[in-house]
Amino acid sequence: MTALSPQLKQATPVLAERGEGVHLYGADGRRYLDFTAGIGVTSTGHCHPRVVAAAQRQVATLIHGQYTTVMHRPLLELTDRLGEFLPPTLDSVFYLNSGSEAVEAAVRLARHATGRQNIVAFHGGFHGRTMGAGALTTSANKFRAGIGPMMPGVALAPFPTAFRYGWPQEQTVDFALNELDYLLATATAPDDTAAFIVEPVLGEGGYVPADERFLRGLRERADRIGALLILDEVQTGVGRTGRFWGHQHFVPQGPLADILITAKGLASGFPLSAIAASRDLMAQARPGSQGGTYGGNAVACAAALATLEVVAQEKLVENAAEQGDRLIAGLRAVAERNKAIGDVRGLGLMCASEFVDAAGKPDPATAARAQQEASARGLLLLTCGATGNVVRMIPPLVVDAGQIDEGLALWEESV
Ligand code: PLP
Repeated sequence: MTALSPQLKQATPVLAERGEGVHLYGADGRRYLDFTAGIGVTSTGHCHPRVVAAAQRQVATLIHGQYTTVMHRPLLELTDRLGEFLPPTLDSVFYLNSGSEAVEAAVRLARHATGRQNIVAFHGGFHGRTMGAGALTTSANKFRAGIGPMMPGVALAPFPTAFRYGWPQEQTVDFALNELDYLLATATAPDDTAAFIVEPVLGEGGYVPADERFLRGLRERADRIGALLILDEVQTGVGRTGRFWGHQHFVPQGPLADILITAKGLASGFPLSAIAASRDLMAQARPGSQGGTYGGNAVACAAALATLEVVAQEKLVENAAEQGDRLIAGLRAVAERNKAIGDVRGLGLMCASEFVDAAGKPDPATAARAQQEASARGLLLLTCGATGNVVRMIPPLVVDAGQIDEGLALWEESV
C-alpha cells in the first residue's frame, strides 16, 4: 500500500468529509468549528451554495482554456469585477494558481521593468516556498535549511516589530526605515534595487500589522530610488482584515502599490492567484515570461467571480470588521486571565495570541498544546510565528457572532 509522505502526516486526527459554512464534518462523526479556513482560503465559507453552483455550471461548460491559446468568459468577467475592487491605478491583471507563483511573477515583472536585480524583503515575511518566493521568506527559516542556493539578489530589512527587536514602540517605524536606508546605502545600492516586497500584516510571521508611516516611508523611498513597491496581499486581501485590501487600513486613499498580489480568499478554495499593476507597467513583462499551464483556470475564475459577488452582497468585508472586533476583544479577555499569552494582535478576522514563558520568551510548546486542546474540543486553529509560538484564528468571513463566542469559549477552555 502506498504511504503518505511524512510531510503529509496529519496535524490533527481530523479526516474532513464535508464542509459547510464555518464547519467541517469529520469522518469521526464530529462537527468542527473551522477557524483555519484552509489557511485563509475559504473566504465565503466551505461550499457556499453560490460558489458551488458557479463552479458546477462552469465544469459542465468549459473546464480549461489556456490563456496563451484561447480566452474564456470567466477570466474576462472576473477581470472586470476585480477591477471594481482594485485601486484605480492598478488597471491590468494577470492570473496564476498560487500565492508563490504570483510573487515570482511580480518579481519577474519588477526586474524586467526596472532592469535591476535586487529585491528588498522584510524580516518575518512569508511569500511562499518556491525557490524565488522562498528566498524572500524569513518567517520560519527552517524550511530553507539545506535546500539552497535560493534566488540571489535578495536583501532583508526589519519589519517594524517592537517586541521582536526590543525597540521602543513609538520609535519602531523610524528604526525600521533607518535600517532600510542603511541597507540601501551598503548592501544593495539604490540603483540595483528593483523592488520592495511587503505584507500589510505579517501573516505566517505572527500577524503583525504594518503601519501607515512605514508603508508611506516605503513608497517615498521607492519613488526616490526608482524602485517598485510590491504589496503581498495573498493572505490579507479580499476582505480578510475588515477592508477589501489590508493596506487600506493604513493608506486608504491614493496609490500605494505598483504591484498588488492576491490569492487565497479570491476563489473560496479553488487555486487562483493574480497580480495587478498599471497597464504601462504590465506591458513591460517580456513576452512569454509570465504564465503557467493552469493559470486563470476557467472553473477557478468562475468560482472567484461568485466569491466577489458573495463578498459584496453578503457584506463580508463589513462582517469581517465587526466579527474581528468581537474576536480580538474576546481573545484579549482570555489573555488577561492567562499569563501564558503575552500578546494579542491582529486586524479583522486575522487574530493571534502569542505564547510566552515566564521569562517572556517564545513558548511554542504551550502554543502547540493549546492548539491541540482546541482541536480535541472541536475548534480547529493554526500556529504561526518564527518559532510557532503564535496561535492564530482566521475563520471564514461568513462567521457570525454566535460562532465567534462559541470559538472563544472553546479557546478559553483550551488555554
Ligand atoms: N504570500 C503570503 C502573504 C502568504 O501568506 C502565502 C501563503 O501562506 C504565500 C504568499 C504563498 O502562497 P501559496 O502557499 O499559495 O504559494
